[in-house]
Amino acid sequence: MDGKITIKHLQQYIKKKDFNPKEKHNYVLKFMEESGELAKAILNKYPHAEGENIKDTIEEEFCDVLFYLCAIANLYDVDIEKWIPVKERETDKRYNTNYFNEFFKGTLK
Ligand SMILES: [Mg+2]
Repeated sequence: MDGKITIKHLQQYIKKKDFNPKEKHNYVLKFMEESGELAKAILNKYPHAEGENIKDTIEEEFCDVLFYLCAIANLYDVDIEKWIPVKERETDKRYNTNYFNEFFKGTLK
């Protein structure tokens, strides 16, 4: 890894750290719990993280939600990074916009 975190790297990291298909139900519950904590952080205007201090910040909750989103995607063998440009191209078509070509052109093979 070159020091930059990609969704693919994050999914690989989480798969090594926390991958248990028998716990699918609990992963979904944790995702919902963390989504609720993120909503609370947003609505209650939690502070931003500073330096290395992330405890009880909005950044902590975004990271928690992303962690469980990736953990669930791993259980279903979904490569999020692969499918984002496909999904965004479809969204562009639906809304007649051109964001896909600006940001993802050349990413689909
Ligand atoms: Mg949390």
